[in-house]
Amino acid sequence: MVLRQTQVLERTSRPLEALEWPRPVPKVGEVLIEVQVCAVCHTELDEIEGRVPARLPVIPGHQVVGAVVESRCTKGPAVGTRVGVGWIHSACGQCQYCLGGRENLCPEFLGTGCHVHGGYAQYMVAPAAFAHPIPAGLDSVEVAPMLCGGAIGLRSLRLAGIENGQTLGLSGFGGSNHQVLRLARILYPDSAVLVWARDPEQRERALADGAAWAGDTEQSPPDAPAAIIDTTPVWKPVLAALAALAPGGKLVVNAISKERADIDQLGRLDYPKHLWREKMIQSVANVTRRDISDFLELAADHERLRPATRTMPLDEANEALLEMRFGAIRGATVLSVR
Ligand SMILES: [Zn+2]
Ligand SMILES: [Zn+2]
Repeated sequence: MVLRQTQVLERTSRPLEALEWPRPVPKVGEVLIEVQVCAVCHTELDEIEGRVPARLPVIPGHQVVGAVVESRCTKGPAVGTRVGVGWIHSACGQCQYCLGGRENLCPEFLGTGCHVHGGYAQYMVAPAAFAHPIPAGLDSVEVAPMLCGGAIGLRSLRLAGIENGQTLGLSGFGGSNHQVLRLARILYPDSAVLVWARDPEQRERALADGAAWAGDTEQSPPDAPAAIIDTTPVWKPVLAALAALAPGGKLVVNAISKERADIDQLGRLDYPKHLWREKMIQSVANVTRRDISDFLELAADHERLRPATRTMPLDEANEALLEMRFGAIRGATVLSVR
């Protein structure tokens, strides 16, 4: 059996190609999923451009929604169940990280659509234990982007470790922190959220969505946040955020990589200003299954967590990626397979 539709990354720095590809066969413990939609993520660009090393050739895509059509597992989602697959394809289940609830740090962590084939195809396989049943009432197109951006946003917010009432800062206001603001308004309703963004339109959106203050990246905030989540691609805002933190505060850096263009900013690191008084800095790596399933549950209960989307056919994946690379697209792009 050959897949009717695929988009394959064969070599870095080349567009994806529609190739004939054998239909995957599930192993014991796995399910075969007929893909309905797969959202487009910046990580696909990182894979194509070589910043995130993928096992090539690979079918990308890690925000997949589809129906289980074959199961080789006694537990887990039955045939006919609508499931979502996110970035976490699998982890060993036995190491100290897996046993300690941090399977995102497992040395055997495999990323969907990077180390194993993902959802830019008509069918894919996934371990049954890593295929998330989707709550009824959620639209598949809206669910797809939640599987990455939503889950990582929730993880960042949890790592920030604030309590309701403590001030939260968000540095950068792209898709991810936009989702974090909405989550924070739900989970910490008495916390003021302060947003730094360069783009005036983003600052307006932040205020409209419940931020207590929105300023340009150079501006001083009205209050010192107990935690700040940084999603910017550069270093300057990292120093600004460390300087703005309250004593004992934590900076959570939610970025796969940082550009080296302004790495010299780190030369301005001033211990008393940026780190003294027990300030902390932590990155966010991958997601756990719990991040995904908890976000889906929250989204089922809170309509405002459902993202704005637009749909394109799978065979226009390269156009969708190019638009994300060069255009300022609002909302998430979701590729439709059928
Ligand atoms: Zn992603
Ligand atoms: Zn492990």
